[in-house]
Amino acid sequence: MLKIDLQLWLNLAIQEAKTGKLPSYIPLLAQVNLETIAIAIQAVKGDQVMAGDIDATFPLMSVIKPFLLLYVLETFGEAEVFRIVDTKPSANPFNVIPENKPENPMLNGGAIALASLLTSCEDLQNWLNQRAGTNLVLDLAMLDSVRSVSNRRNLAIAEQLKLLGIIKHPQQSLAIYEEICCLRANVQDLAKIGTLLVELPNNNKERSQLESTNIPIVLKIMTECGMYEASAEFAQDIGLPSKSSVSGAILSIVPNDCAIACYSPALDAIGNSVAGLFLLRQVKLDKVQPIFE
Ligand code: GLN
Repeated sequence: MLKIDLQLWLNLAIQEAKTGKLPSYIPLLAQVNLETIAIAIQAVKGDQVMAGDIDATFPLMSVIKPFLLLYVLETFGEAEVFRIVDTKPSANPFNVIPENKPENPMLNGGAIALASLLTSCEDLQNWLNQRAGTNLVLDLAMLDSVRSVSNRRNLAIAEQLKLLGIIKHPQQSLAIYEEICCLRANVQDLAKIGTLLVELPNNNKERSQLESTNIPIVLKIMTECGMYEASAEFAQDIGLPSKSSVSGAILSIVPNDCAIACYSPALDAIGNSVAGLFLLRQVKLDKVQPIFE
């Protein structure tokens, strides 16, 4: 049973969203409706609650990064993964051009390095859809927009990774990275894939059969690096491992309980969804954990 009134929260959050701005460097993201807002909370045990524009879809963008990390850890193991990316918090913006091995997999440089381990976007797309029962699809119009001339920064990052000897094929790694960022979901899908990151006291084998050591690794990196430069403050205030994206999504994990997916496209100056942050603050202030009883 849920102890909170989601619709009331959304009504308050939408007012907050008006103080935010849409991003401009991906042209299609600058055209979305600023007032779209939705939340979905999915318990690992199956209960689900949601409110708002629950069918509105958005490209996952950076909120795919924890899943990319989980997938490569599961597939290639820790040694291979942390040979090409570090696990350090960073004071740098997400699109920093790395001077050495990328500081963590939540930065574009780290995620592009990890994308070099994939043979195609479908590797990750199919893995997530099968495990979480979702239907993430590649948004080709968004992909064109991401690849438009106004957004060349990631190419510079990929080329730098090659110069550093971290990846061999910058164009291919970047292409796969861009595609996984353009997987499209609604908040229900995001909350469902989020449950793959919810640890259970007695690992529920039927649900996922994930390596029990990999989830804590991903959650720690989300806690320390998931909210850009606001990560440390967010960890102190809210304390839930979370990841945000330039499309306005935020995924938060309530360990042993549920995944919370928020979507509202208006961003603050650091790049986090204004309404998403507001909603997560309510989770904290209302002391609603555990959300499902
Ligand atoms: N695809 C976007 C980029 O690489 C994702 C960034 C983000 O969500 N912060 O710029």
